[in-house]
Amino acid sequence: MRSFAERQAGLQKAVRPLRKKFGKQQMASGEDVALQLVRFLLLEESSHAEVNEAMVRIPAGFVDLNELRISFPEEIAEVVPGVSFIQRKASRITQLFNAMFLRHNTMTWEFLRTYNIRDLRQYFEKIDGGDAVLSAAAVMLLSPGHAIPADSDVRRTLGRLGLTEHGEDVAALQGFLERAVAKEQGYETWALLHRLAETVCVVGEPACAKCLLHGFCPTGIDKLTKKAKKSETKTEKKPEKKKPAGKKPTAKKPKAAVKMAAKPAGKNNQKKKKKK
Ligand code: SF4
Repeated sequence: MRSFAERQAGLQKAVRPLRKKFGKQQMASGEDVALQLVRFLLLEESSHAEVNEAMVRIPAGFVDLNELRISFPEEIAEVVPGVSFIQRKASRITQLFNAMFLRHNTMTWEFLRTYNIRDLRQYFEKIDGGDAVLSAAAVMLLSPGHAIPADSDVRRTLGRLGLTEHGEDVAALQGFLERAVAKEQGYETWALLHRLAETVCVVGEPACAKCLLHGFCPTGIDKLTKKAKKSETKTEKKPEKKKPAGKKPTAKKPKAAVKMAAKPAGKNNQKKKKKK
């Protein structure tokens, strides 16, 4: 088990080159609360490009957020077909929106920005469609407080980087991230891990050879070492058998000749029966 300091140092080591590659990550400002939540829920296991495209299509495809709320997941999927796992995400969005609408009878949720951090956390932990990840996201996106949501992309990348503990749950991982990362770097750290997740450390087989962290990522090191060993074994050739010196290879007889030789002799060639 790694100490807190070791994990923190590992995280910083991973984030530094990501910041160099992807640049400073800044939260989109001025977006409606409901749309910020939609953006967050759509981004899990999807790329920024897919989600940005979806966020342009949503206002064009629905009259307002209320229409989005009452739409079937299949209808939402038709409007934003490019987002991965869209039906599952669409049902989560409508489930959450309906629960919030039932509580407040409005789709304007700017008042959530005035909640204190504890209330905001509890609100999204308890509401239908919410959970510990969404409550951390709400703190990160809607308040000046500090939280880093450990969504599936964050859990996957940190897990492969060896920065999670065996059996660590979402709340514990979020607790670690909140202590290990300074408040002003919270959103950036989350966003950079997402960039890593959508480019190379993807769901399924990660593209470790193209990853700038493969030099110290235990998963990357393991995968690339195994790959190198496999290709070494493939290229290893068996020593060729030496032909005995001086012996010329015997030429193959032409097929016809072989046939002729094998053919039973004609009448003239048949052995004459010995006369008794
Ligand atoms: S080396 Fe591979 S497993 Fe490690 S972070 Fe990069 S892509 Fe993910």
